[in-house]
Order: sequence, then C-alpha cells, then structure tokens
Amino acid sequence: MINIVLFGPPGSGKGTQAKFLEEKFNLKQLSTGDMFRFNLKNQTELGVLAQSYMDKGHLVPDEVTTNMLREELKKHTGYAGFIFDGYPRTTAQAQSLDEILKEDLNQEVSVCLSLRVEDEILVQRLLGRGLDSGRADDANEEVIRERIVEYYTKTDEVAEHYKAQGKLVDIDGVGEIAEITDKLSQEIQKFA
Ligand code: AMP
Repeated sequence: MINIVLFGPPGSGKGTQAKFLEEKFNLKQLSTGDMFRFNLKNQTELGVLAQSYMDKGHLVPDEVTTNMLREELKKHTGYAGFIFDGYPRTTAQAQSLDEILKEDLNQEVSVCLSLRVEDEILVQRLLGRGLDSGRADDANEEVIRERIVEYYTKTDEVAEHYKAQGKLVDIDGVGEIAEITDKLSQEIQKFA
C-alpha cells in the first residue's frame, strides 16, 4: 500500500491536492476535518463536542480524534492506499498513526509530503475560501490566525517525527494547482 501523510498548515492546499491524488493513484482521502464537519452537520455527540474546539480554531483532543480516525480507516478497503489529510496534527497523533497502521493493517506511512506556504498567503487564501466554503472557521480572521498559532505550537513539530524516519519531503505549495499536483505525484510515483 501507499500511505501518504499530506502535511501543512491550514490553507496550504491539502484538501485540494488530495482530491486529485485520490483519483490519480486510487487512494482514499481521510480528512479528520471533513469527519468532524460531517458529525457537526448531523449534530452527533462527537460533532457537538468537536464544535466547541473548532469554533475557537483549536485542536480537538487527541483521543477523540484518533478514535474517530481509527474507526473510519476500517471502513475503506480496495484502495491502493490512503491519503491522511489533516491528521496527524500532534506528535502523539503521529505515534498513534504508526501504531494503528501497524496493528490494524500491518502497514506503515510511506512518505510525509509537506506543503510549504508562508503565513500571509495562508490567511488570504482562507479568507477567500470563507466567502463561499460555508465554513465558519474560514470566515473569521481571528479564528484563522488562531488556527495558524495552533499549527506552529502543536503541529509543525510533527514534521520532525517523519524526518527522523527519513520520510519527510518538502514541497513548495505556492504556484499553479496542477504544477503542485505534478510535484506531489512525482514523489508518490516512487512508491507505486
Ligand atoms: P481542517 O478541515 O483540517 O482544517 O480541520 C478543521 C478543524 O477540525 C480544526 O481546526 C480542528 O478544530 C479540527 N481538527 C481536524 N483535524 C484534527 C486533528 N487531527 N486533531 C485535532 N483537531 C482536528
């Protein structure tokens, strides 16, 4: 299997790129943000809990997020692998993902593709997305900036986890969407 961690700050293009890569390589995108939004829309207990964190731009606690991801992972078979989009977001989540892949699928992360985009471009992209995405957390600049702070205090260090395993690849996330898809594809191709 090819298991990709698509990594980067909010607004770096993970979700957009995951959609193209899913199709190109027969991979399944697993986005914890999408899972939380689905639960929110359906007002499940999990959704109500997550909302209190999401509204503030904070991370949902690791245990809740990891349990949800593990359950979702079991539901999808028949793919060449997975694209983890927005997970892991803490070092503890990165360790959990290694364990879950090993225990449940006898697999490991193949590569962590890290999209690099500077902060001011992220804020502009997210504000632009907020105009039509319907996402409350994209419509408020304060919440956007809080999500970027969360990224630097808790998530950025996840790159070190994969660097130590020799699995980290940096990709410039600024430019034409198709050009970035090509750069990501070249890296994924090495595992196909
Ligand atoms: P996203 O769509 O990936 O930007 O995620 C939207 C929101 O969902 C985040 O701001 C967090 O509140 C929550 N979330 C998504 N993924 C995670 C995660 N791996 N760990 C904790 N919270 C998460």
